[in-house]
Parts: sequence; C-alpha cells; structure tokens
Amino acid sequence: MSHALIRRRRAVVSDGVGMFAGDTTAVSAQGARIVDADGRELIDFAGGIGVMNVGHCHPEVVAAISAQAQRLLHACIHVATYEPYVELCEALVRLLPHGGPTKAMLVNSGAEAVENAVKIARQATGRSAIVCFEGAFHGRTLLGMSLTAKSAYKRGCGPFAPEIYRVPFPSAFREGRSEDALVAEHLRRFEERFVLGPVPAEHVAAVIIEPVQGEGGFVVAPPDYLRGLAEICTRHGILLVLDEVQTGFCRTGRWAAFEHAGVVPDLSTWAKSMGGGLPIGAVLGRAEVMDAARPGTIGGTYGGNPVACAAALATLRVMEREDLNARAAEIGSMVRARFERLRQEHDVVGDVRGLGAMMAIELCHDRDPARPATEVTAAAVARCRAQGVLVITAGAFGNIIRVLSPLVISNAELERGLEVIGSSVADAAKELATP
Ligand SMILES: *Cc1c(COP(=O)(O)O)cnc(C)c1O
Repeated sequence: MSHALIRRRRAVVSDGVGMFAGDTTAVSAQGARIVDADGRELIDFAGGIGVMNVGHCHPEVVAAISAQAQRLLHACIHVATYEPYVELCEALVRLLPHGGPTKAMLVNSGAEAVENAVKIARQATGRSAIVCFEGAFHGRTLLGMSLTAKSAYKRGCGPFAPEIYRVPFPSAFREGRSEDALVAEHLRRFEERFVLGPVPAEHVAAVIIEPVQGEGGFVVAPPDYLRGLAEICTRHGILLVLDEVQTGFCRTGRWAAFEHAGVVPDLSTWAKSMGGGLPIGAVLGRAEVMDAARPGTIGGTYGGNPVACAAALATLRVMEREDLNARAAEIGSMVRARFERLRQEHDVVGDVRGLGAMMAIELCHDRDPARPATEVTAAAVARCRAQGVLVITAGAFGNIIRVLSPLVISNAELERGLEVIGSSVADAAKELATP
C-alpha cells in the first residue's frame, strides 16, 4: 500500500530528500505508465525528471543490462580498460561532435558532469572564474549548488564555492519584451560587466548555460543570444559550457538543444536520459580542451560503469532506430497546441513555452509574471495525480507545469494526460479564485 510505504519512508529517510510529487509511489513501470503501490496506473509526464525518454524498462535496454551484468559488473576505468566505456564514448562523439576531434569522459550524474566540466575548463584556460545564470540549475553537489540559482535548494548549505559570477538569463515573458529586443541588450550588458566589474574577462575560465533552463522553468535561450554568447566567449578566450543534462538526447527534437541554435560549445554536460534509467553522465568537448585535464584530476571509481554503459549504448540505439527526435517534435507540437488553447481559455495561464517535447505553462494571476499562481499550480498537479497523471512543477515560485513524458508515449496517453492537465488547471483556478 502507498500509505504504508510512505510511512516507512518518513521514519527512516531524511526529510531533506525532497518529495516533489506528494505521496506518489512506484512499483513497476513500462513505456509511459507507472504502477504504484496500490496497483493504480499513472500516465507519466515526469519521466523521473526527464530521464525516461526511451520509456520505462525498454526491453532492449533491460536486455543489454542483464547481458552486461553477467559478463562484467565493475572494473574501474582507471584500473582496466573495458569495451563498453570506449564504445559509448565513440557513440557520443559521433552523435555530438564539438567542431572537430571530440573526446569524452563518463561520470555517474549530471552534477558530477558539471563539476568535471569546470575542472577541465580551469585547467584548459589557467583561469578560475565561472559565469553562470539566474534561474540556473546545475545539480546539488557543493560546486553544482554554488552554480545553481534557486535559493530554496541552497538555504543553509553555504559557504559556496568562490569565483562564481551570476548574470541575468533573457526571458521574454518575465521581462515583458520581445525576444529580438532582449537579445541585443542582454549581450551588450553581458560584455559590459567585464569592464564594470565584478570580474575581468581574463579571469573567466568558462560560461555555463542551459540552452533551455530546466528546473528554472523551461525558459528557452534565444538562438541569437546563444550565438552572441559563443562569439563573446571566443573573443575573450572563455570556454562555453552548455549544460544539456535535461535538454539532451531527443528531448528537444535533437540530440542536443544547441543544434537548434547552430552553436558548438567547447564543453558540454550530459546525464538524465542518457542511460535509459541507469545513472550515467558525460562531459564532451573539443579534444584539445578535454586533454588539458591532467591525468588523475578527473574521473572516479564508478564513472562509466560497464552496466550503465551498456544501458546507454542500448538507449542511443533505440533513440536512433525509433527516431525519437522526430517523435519529440511531434509530441511538442501536440502539447503546444493544447497549451495554447488553455492559455486562450484561462487567464491564469500566463505563458506557454518550450522547445520540442520540453514544454511548459507558467501560471500567474491575470497573466502577470510578477504574480505567480503557486497555490493554483500545486492544486492543479495534485488534481492531476488524483486522476492518474503524474506531473511535476518547475521554477523558483513552483508555478510552472512542465512536460517531460517518455517520448514513446502513445498519442492516446498524451491526449489523456493533456486533457487532465487542462481540466485540473481550470478547476484549480476556479476553486482558488479570489472573489
Ligand atoms: C538535473 C540537472 C543537473 C543535475 O543532475 P543530477 O544527475 O541530478 O546530479 C544538472 N544540470 C541540469 C541542467 C539538470 O537538469
């Protein structure tokens, strides 16, 4: 029973391990459906936070895991070279070239990928400062958390890592201006800061940015902004690190969200959907940048575990064969159309945005970005769960509903989920309306 399991959790699991979807439980899952501890089926719009792009328990991924588990469970890449690690790096640099010879290193999580990208960038440039963004999420290790913006995730955990400088992320909705108007000004001010302070360009090793902010609320960096940023970085000898942990591997309709902007980063970070459900991540980069890391400065005991590599290789094969990039684009346009309709019908829906199948709505009173409808959002997602649709929120104010469903979701499941989100938002807004 869900109730009993949650009671046992509360007794022994730290309260600090947040529960972002109420008392939801999971016993088994397949495709886009989860079965909870009461035997109830949920349509999954969360994908374990954007991890299940190929769907839960994809048979090919499960078979690869079990075959590898019988051959070699662990060796440690620093101790012995095994083929799955090398083969996965070959696949990654083939799918995601960084403008010339490209190399990779494997890790266990997104935060670890970010940590290692920063260490590589510092060694490659001989500089220490890192520029990151308001609204950013880069993980919960101490450096990852230092780069993360959301204060609710950081309270009481400092002091944070030094030499981190934060700049605004362009947001058409929040700033109430068109993208074109935003881009030039944000780029001008970005570069101006190197002169006005707080840090000269010659001290900056890297700029790290999510091409679409994930936890920050699916805010899409305008393509011209990313291109301008890349150009500024090149001019000042700064490395551009794109954090693709949430956007990567077909979510936005491409292998990398940066492909939409035609930008090639110096380094990039990956995890979440890469392992089809097993914990694995990667740092990719231009070969000479990746090789600037001295032996022994990056890596770890488990990074690129053989079973996780086999799962990732199977995951990439499924993504290629089933053309999940094309499917993500299809899902994205279905979701966008339904969300646009919802916005026209309800003035609590302030914004509809996203890229590919990474779509969200932002709920605000009278569509005013300064008045986040946090309670309406919480009530709406609770109503969704009660009706068998698992969705999660995003954004500093928790007023954004995001779609991260598996890309193997059927049209019927998707339509059902969108119907439930639509009626839940409408009912929650009505229930909480101030007379
Ligand atoms: C989730 C996420 C991370 C952190 O990944 P973990 O595997 O949770 O450590 C880093 N960056 C982005 C953009 C993310 O969405």
